[in-house]
Amino acid sequence: MSQRIYLSPPHLSGEEVNFIKEALDTNWVAPAGPALGEFEKHIAKSNEVENCLVVSSGTAAIHLALIVLGVERGDEVICSTFTFSGSCNPIIYQSATPIFVDSEFQSWNMDPALLEQAIKDRLRLGKKPKAIIVVHLFGMPAQMDQVMEIAGRYQIPVIEDAAEALGSLYHDRSTGSIGDIGIYSFNGNKIITTSGGGAIVSNRKEWTDKARFLSSQSRSPVPYYQHEELGYNYQLSNISASIGLGQIKILQDRVKQRRRIFDFYTANLSSLGFSFQPEPPGVESNRWLTTVLLDSKTLKPEKLRVELEKKNIETRPLWKPMHLQPVFKDAPSYLNGVSESLFERGLCLPSGSNLSEGNLQFVVQSIKELIPK
Ligand SMILES: *Cc1c(COP(=O)(O)O)cnc(C)c1O
Repeated sequence: MSQRIYLSPPHLSGEEVNFIKEALDTNWVAPAGPALGEFEKHIAKSNEVENCLVVSSGTAAIHLALIVLGVERGDEVICSTFTFSGSCNPIIYQSATPIFVDSEFQSWNMDPALLEQAIKDRLRLGKKPKAIIVVHLFGMPAQMDQVMEIAGRYQIPVIEDAAEALGSLYHDRSTGSIGDIGIYSFNGNKIITTSGGGAIVSNRKEWTDKARFLSSQSRSPVPYYQHEELGYNYQLSNISASIGLGQIKILQDRVKQRRRIFDFYTANLSSLGFSFQPEPPGVESNRWLTTVLLDSKTLKPEKLRVELEKKNIETRPLWKPMHLQPVFKDAPSYLNGVSESLFERGLCLPSGSNLSEGNLQFVVQSIKELIPK
């Protein structure tokens, strides 16, 4: 059996070990330490945003963002339905209600027209949504101008879930830096990793300060442990941040590599009944995952997945929309069929930046063999 080809494995730069060694040599093995601040500075700088806090996961980052924006029991929070559950689980942690909004076909992300319909309808029912979580799925920027214009008109703060979209650009601005608060993830499968971690960015310092306070158990500034509000242990460790320092340096290379992989797939598969996640004018996706839609008369995505698995090639269906998840079945949803249609027709292809030319040839060849003549 050939070596397994993964969907999106970690890809080390080789520098990580030096930063980790530095942390070990100086005994900064406690959660605190100098690599954290350094890593935060790099993230803020590369995304042109003023303040950054690194935390233990992207999900923790979203949770803190919701608390900072005052989301509490009984509130409603609008969220893209076409996403990973990490986007909306924290809404439930706050005992609030997710309101799911479907996608458009131009970027596959939140449909701005449907967002406005959802807001109007929630207002009609007597409740103004407390926040909007807009997701940049598979790295593709959502239609942020429209989303921000609508959110601004109704004065609802926007959290950008850029967990998958670090390094993507929307009209020359980094995803995550456009909304009121942005979040990133450094989970092992993301474009860069700390083996597990996340970040919150914002131009409002009081929000990142508040998130920092909450993330280390809300300790009041007195000599003894005193807590005036509920705290969380969401800190990133200095060792993880050291890995991050080795990773953030090569982010631009990783974006180029992932975009090249996307180009390879499109060059080889476009004529065979496969279509790809579109990139609207003025945006540049990091192409974290190359996703294809299949012409189902030729080949079903599940059939393709199972057959590639036999060749030790990992693929995954597109993310199952949140309104179809049993755990969120009672959440109000504003739907237009787009995310369901994408889920039924799509597949994520191996997209790791460390895939070799030979790996890519093998994946494409294996796909071609499955297409009925
Ligand atoms: C990965 C991911 C998250 C959660 O990040 P973790 O670091 O795994 O907690 C949230 N939203 C989206 C869209 C993701 O892909």
